[in-house]
Amino acid sequence: MAVVFERVAVIGVGLIGASIARAARAEGAAGEVALYDADEGVRARARALELGEVCDSAAAAAAGADLVILAVPVGAMAKALEAAAPGVKPGAIITDVGSVKGAVVQALRPLAPRDALLIPGHPIAGTEHSGPDAGFATLFKGRWHILTPLDDPRPEYAAGLDRLEAFWRALGANVERMDLARHDVVLAVTSHLPHLIAFNIVAMAEDLESVTESEVVKFSASGFRDFTRIAASDPTMWRDVFLNNREAVLEVLGRFSEDLAALQRAIRWGEGDALYDLFDRARRMRREVIEAGQDTPAPNWGREN
Ligand code: NAP
Repeated sequence: MAVVFERVAVIGVGLIGASIARAARAEGAAGEVALYDADEGVRARARALELGEVCDSAAAAAAGADLVILAVPVGAMAKALEAAAPGVKPGAIITDVGSVKGAVVQALRPLAPRDALLIPGHPIAGTEHSGPDAGFATLFKGRWHILTPLDDPRPEYAAGLDRLEAFWRALGANVERMDLARHDVVLAVTSHLPHLIAFNIVAMAEDLESVTESEVVKFSASGFRDFTRIAASDPTMWRDVFLNNREAVLEVLGRFSEDLAALQRAIRWGEGDALYDLFDRARRMRREVIEAGQDTPAPNWGREN
């Protein structure tokens, strides 16, 4: 695979940052990878894992890089760019991997050096694990990467966009370009709300006085454990997602609550047909997800029990 960027700087070496570093080197998409994380322990771990050249400041990592990737929690994006900006060279591309786009762009736009190209993005790939040890080179393979380009008329912006797309394709991702606001609504439905529901169900089960926690854990295989996997995701990351995609999440949540009330009513009044129709519609959606290659058709995700 041909090198897409000579030097790539990754700011924030968690699950996503470490995976980018590993994938870029494994696929030969980057000549070299420089890394920086605000946490000294994480920097030490990144060195031990040999993820690339670990620098002592964000500006040092960004120095000379053709691509600077901000891979920190959404609420820390501005701080990360502020620190990296003095090192960013003219013409460099600055991108991010934040799960929210509108608020991140608002925060980053005023901070990006004027001669740099700010091209926000979001990999639809991840796990419930965090930190540098959680990263792996194949994380992005066959997953979507959404780019949400800004309205920038410079010809070099269009060229930079193509190059960034080539980078993510080299890492194995399928790339789609999308409008910022659309991204935030789509992700509120497909990711943010499901996480909120999982956090809520798991916390509620822990709170319920009528069942003991040990019973919940003991019988968790009946559906609950799948929620616990989602609810095991990093609390800082998810706090920032909800604080920064407030409008879209509240809108989708409003609709969800209404539909939930309708379900509650159908149960109360014994409306079996209404329940059946909704469950049947939901089941068809699962088939579509599998046909689109977004999940395995194996029963129970191929688990043995
Ligand atoms: P993570 O594993 O928690 O790693 C984030 C790292 O960034 C931490 O080591 C953190 O250090 C560090 N950091 C925080 N502020 C910093 C700063 N100002 N400068 C440098 N480093 C800083 O998080 P992640 O799961 O990789 O997520 C990173 C981003 O990717 C988030 O914006 C998230 O929304 C997005 N994303 C995540 C997933 C997913 O499934 N996890 C999927 C797609 C996109 P401290 O721990 O000391 O704060």
